[in-house]
Amino acid sequence: MGGESILKSDRSPVTIADYGSQAIICKWIRERFPNDTIVAEEDSEELRRPDRSAILEQVTNYVHAFAPTSSSKEVCSWIDFSSNSITDRFWALDPIDGTKGFLRGDQYAIALALIERGVVILGILACPNLYIDIHYPFGEKGCLFVALKGKGSFQMDIHGMSQRTIFVSKVKNPSEATITESVEPDHADHLFHQRLARQLNISKPSLKMDSQAKYGIVARGEVTMYLRVPSSVEPMYKENIWDHAAGSIIAEEAGGKVTDVLGRPLDFSSGIKMEKNHGILVTNGILHDVILEALKM
Ligand code: AMP
Ligand code: MG
Repeated sequence: MGGESILKSDRSPVTIADYGSQAIICKWIRERFPNDTIVAEEDSEELRRPDRSAILEQVTNYVHAFAPTSSSKEVCSWIDFSSNSITDRFWALDPIDGTKGFLRGDQYAIALALIERGVVILGILACPNLYIDIHYPFGEKGCLFVALKGKGSFQMDIHGMSQRTIFVSKVKNPSEATITESVEPDHADHLFHQRLARQLNISKPSLKMDSQAKYGIVARGEVTMYLRVPSSVEPMYKENIWDHAAGSIIAEEAGGKVTDVLGRPLDFSSGIKMEKNHGILVTNGILHDVILEALKM
């Protein structure tokens, strides 16, 4: 369900599931926290076009499972609860992070974070396609990661059951480290990542994965680090807050460290784009400075 896609003006795909997810989550937040700002990835402009009426109908049908009497107009208005500027306290939502992974049948995540004065205080990542047990990658799927500032990081099944506290790996020797990176070659410089791995004598191939599920697998100690050096296709790319807010607190509360590739803290206080950052580095903490040093090559 939700796999049909249309191209947005920036040529990135958006699916029925992106719109449906945003409508349901925005409605949920607005009912409970009417004064809070929501900053989410999508808006309904494209959906309201007369030639998109069939898509809007599918989105509305999809939302009916959660809000049975909703009209198409209401669904669009819920999507548009999203604001395009941040405030002192706001929710950052990526209704489907890793849409390309979702379309391929790979990893994707529903990512929601609560941010107060630039500090992420709550992060939730739902990864419906991610295996629960790292020892059984073909086993049961569906993980929910939740982190609260100062209270730790937790993994549950997709229904919110079987909660356990998660921790990053304890690897100290860089040569024993493992790397996760994007699947999409335009989202990160894979060649640079390979050179860095060689320099550190890392022998295991990187684990390519879409979406903020990468933060989850660092947080649960499955891999040692998540590298995201901007690709040469778009070397000055500025990351979106909704692509990193939820994931970053989940990795940090599990004992990890998250900065950009120059060691600067992630900036969730300037606007939708993380203007003060360049790339992303997530590690188990122990190896952070060594990797930052190696990144200077
Ligand atoms: P990932 O699944 O980790 O590759 O990241 C998916 C996210 O990458 C999407 O949500 C986009 O917002 C973001 N993205 C799009 N273009 C670029 C780019 N040129 N460099 C880095 N990230 C990008
Ligand atoms: Mg995204």
